[in-house]
Amino acid sequence: MIYYVTGTPVNVTLGRVYEAVDFACNALGLTVETLEVVFSPLPTGACGYADYEEEESHAEIEVSRDLSENETIRTIFHELVHVCQYDRGWLQVGYPQLWNGKPVNDIYSHREHEQEAYSLELFLYEDFTNVRRQVFL
Ligand SMILES: [Zn+2]
Repeated sequence: MIYYVTGTPVNVTLGRVYEAVDFACNALGLTVETLEVVFSPLPTGACGYADYEEEESHAEIEVSRDLSENETIRTIFHELVHVCQYDRGWLQVGYPQLWNGKPVNDIYSHREHEQEAYSLELFLYEDFTNVRRQVFL
């Protein structure tokens, strides 16, 4: 996979961004051929978006450039979980989107693909920041 970053986050070094993207792509086993990570000035309250083009095996995530470092990393993880959901065909682009073949009609916080993205985002973040360690005895 090739990925490239366009735009610059305000509060995070690009080196840290690369570490976070590398980490999540490996952990999630992403198989898209190309990924673009775009930092842009999103409206207040919006953290990010994910988009996917199956034919080109291309994904794009857009992340607000103004977030704190922690929020930026968590948003990268969150949006990459959505890329993973698209990549595996669980989530499908459209109006409405389809999740496991069914239209997504629930309010935002009740959407299963969002609940999965939030829980995996936290899981990845804890691993990335070494908050959690697993010990095998
Ligand atoms: Zn989401």
